[in-house]
Order: sequence, then C-alpha cells, then structure tokens
Amino acid sequence: MVYSIAIDGPAGAGKSTIAKKIAKELGFIYVDTGAMYRAVALYLMRNHIQAEESTKIVEACNKINVSIEYVDGEQQVILNGENVNGFIRTEEVGMMTSASSKNKDIRMKMVELQRELANKQSVVMDGRDIGTYVLPNADVKIYLTASSSERARRRYVELTAKGVTCNMEEIEKDIIARDHQDMSREFAPLRQAEDATLVDSSNMTIDEVVNEIITIFQKSHS
Ligand code: C5P
Repeated sequence: MVYSIAIDGPAGAGKSTIAKKIAKELGFIYVDTGAMYRAVALYLMRNHIQAEESTKIVEACNKINVSIEYVDGEQQVILNGENVNGFIRTEEVGMMTSASSKNKDIRMKMVELQRELANKQSVVMDGRDIGTYVLPNADVKIYLTASSSERARRRYVELTAKGVTCNMEEIEKDIIARDHQDMSREFAPLRQAEDATLVDSSNMTIDEVVNEIITIFQKSHS
C-alpha cells in the first residue's frame, strides 16, 4: 500500500521544512517538485532561452533530463547527469522558475515524473498543484500558507544564515510577485483544492504544523 500527502501553498510558507520532517517521521520519501522546475529554469537560463520562447522550450524539453536521487535523505536534483542542488536556490532562479513553469510542455514533463515517483512509494510531495492536479487522489491534501511579511522574514533569516546579503522588503516584493504569477497562470495554477485542509503557519511552530498534519494523516486511514 502506498500513501501520498500533498502539500501546496505559496512561496516561503515552510512547505519543504514541514514536508521533510513529516516524511522522516512516517518513513515516506520527500519529493520537492519546486526543485525540479528550478532545474529546468536553470537549464533555460544557461542556454539563454526566455520563458516566452515556447518553440525553443519544446526543443529544450527534448534535451532536458531531470531525475532525483537521495543522499543522506536529502533530495538531489540531477539535470542531464549534473547535480544542480547548489545552483537552484537563488531568488533569480526562483523568479525565472515562476515564469517558465507556466509553460505547459515543461509542466507535462515534470508531472509525469512526479506521478511515477508517487506510484512507486509513499510520498510527501510539495509544490503548487499537487493536490489539484498531480495527485488528485492524495490521501491527505494540505494548503499551507502564512502572511507575506512572515514568509519574507523567514526567507530573510534563511538567506542571511547562509551568508547571503539581502533585503527583507525586496524579498517580500519578490514573494508577492511570484505568488501572483503562480496563482494567475492558465494551466494548473496555485489554489487550494476543494478537499484540502487550510493550515496557516504564521503563528505556529514547525513542530505544531508537523503534528497537525500527521494527525490528519492518521485520522484519514484509521
Ligand atoms: O517551491 P519553490 O519555491 O521551489 O518553487 C519555485 C517555483 O516553481 C514556484 O514559484 C512555481 O512557479 C513553480 N512550481 C510550480 N509547480 C510546482 C512546484 C513549483 O509551478 N508543483
């Protein structure tokens, strides 16, 4: 029996931190779908292809091979044989990803890979369209959000800890722009699935959110 937990929500809501912990506790694998779209965006940036150049993107899709591996439980994204984890976390790649992930050819390619992974093993998968599109029959669907100021503050703390110089107001502006773009795209936009549980983490600790979701999962199949 394989189970799936889908966690969707806007940028910086804490999806990956929460999803990783839940996966560890339940012995599932964690699938970070944003990282897959980021790897594709990195390929486009390196090859000077713009998000609007759909013909070039179709060609690029035939040349792109994205897969994932796990090292010490951490997801590694492999782009044409290269581990690109070290290159995909910048704000610049994040903005490009939000623009390029509107493209349907890119989405179809990533969704196929995501469904394959969820068919094989129990997963906690996070993203924007997991509950609404990728895994419509997921056992548990969560829409995880927080205020944009709190999400900007968290990202600021995370980046500063990594030694990256950044500005909180700029980060909040980027977050709002990215959310708008993700929510207003035509194909598989970010929205709360009708059967998803809304969790607002603005005033919750990581462990409180993790426990709430695990309780929802346990109730769902008891
Ligand atoms: O979650 P993360 O910030 O890494 O996602 C980067 C971008 O990838 C999002 O802003 C969104 O545009 C795109 N994405 C998506 N569908 C997913 C996951 C991410 O469109 N399932």
